[in-house]
Amino acid sequence: MPIAVLMIILDDISRMFEVKKIQTNFREECMDTNKIVARALIAMALLSPRSFGQESAKKADVSPMEAVLRLHLSNRESLASLYYSACCRDRAVELQESVRDFIAFYKDKLGVASPITVAVLDENDWDRIKQQMPDYRFPYGMPNFQVSPSGYVLFIPADDKGVVTQHLLGDRQHATEASLKLFASAHLTYDEAVRRAILQLAYHEAGHTRVYEYGIQPPNLWLNEILANYLAFAYGKARDPQTAAVTEGFVKMGIEIPAGAYTSLDDFDAHFGNIEPANYDWYQMQFATRALEIYNEQGLGFVAKVRSVFPKGASKSKMSVAETLSQLEAISPGFQAWAKTLGESRSEFGPLH
Ligand SMILES: [Zn+2]
Repeated sequence: MPIAVLMIILDDISRMFEVKKIQTNFREECMDTNKIVARALIAMALLSPRSFGQESAKKADVSPMEAVLRLHLSNRESLASLYYSACCRDRAVELQESVRDFIAFYKDKLGVASPITVAVLDENDWDRIKQQMPDYRFPYGMPNFQVSPSGYVLFIPADDKGVVTQHLLGDRQHATEASLKLFASAHLTYDEAVRRAILQLAYHEAGHTRVYEYGIQPPNLWLNEILANYLAFAYGKARDPQTAAVTEGFVKMGIEIPAGAYTSLDDFDAHFGNIEPANYDWYQMQFATRALEIYNEQGLGFVAKVRSVFPKGASKSKMSVAETLSQLEAISPGFQAWAKTLGESRSEFGPLH
């Protein structure tokens, strides 16, 4: 039943997305290493809800879970059952353990225990997934989760050759002093932090699944993103401080990105799917920053409050930004002022092209 409800939500969301265009833009952006980056991290986060609405389970001949099973990979069972490419068992097991602990954490904190299957794939196996599922559009290296009738499947790259890691590795010249300091506090060099960023993205993806399973129905896309960031960060702070430091470091780095054509929450929802990657990344940085701020004030108590005002099955699945903000203001004062500041942000640089 939860999956069925989810699919309805996702299907609804999917109509708003133009995944292909965004990913094409994203790839083009990745070609230009001179542009301010770290955006890969954000684009990642951004793309995830789209994966929810990919309709892959509907259109493709096989479900995401079946596609993984048909690869005939080695398997390791747990709350986060793992299927992994032959190249990379150690890394795959490490990722599996992290996701398993993420699930266990939220079972304890939120009472959500639904399993997530983890597919840690090299580029060749990733391509074999694409061949089976024509609607699966994620380039290699971009973590994402899919919904199968039998449960969630989280796809994670098995090595450092993927688009996100390569993009960030090529962007080390843009690392800021504050970011490097945070990485160093976690005993990580820039390159090590980049490699760990994949875990942050995996937590973000897994976070989306927990938001729905917990019973929250975000009435706006931007709130959905804030919540995924929130759960990823909350877990990191409690159980994986190294990854939490990586998150904060990249947020500090990414917040330097100039605002683009769109800056308001209304714009975000209205133009979702047509926002330039750099502009989209700007939004994600604002969302991550907001999530960090609230988490430091309220911890996970905020998530419970969000469910009380936006429960799954509520009569209104969508709300105006003003209406949502007014509800959020009551449980986390400062939301309206934050949104106002956001809307008034105008880049002197203009949109990046
Ligand atoms: Zn997301």
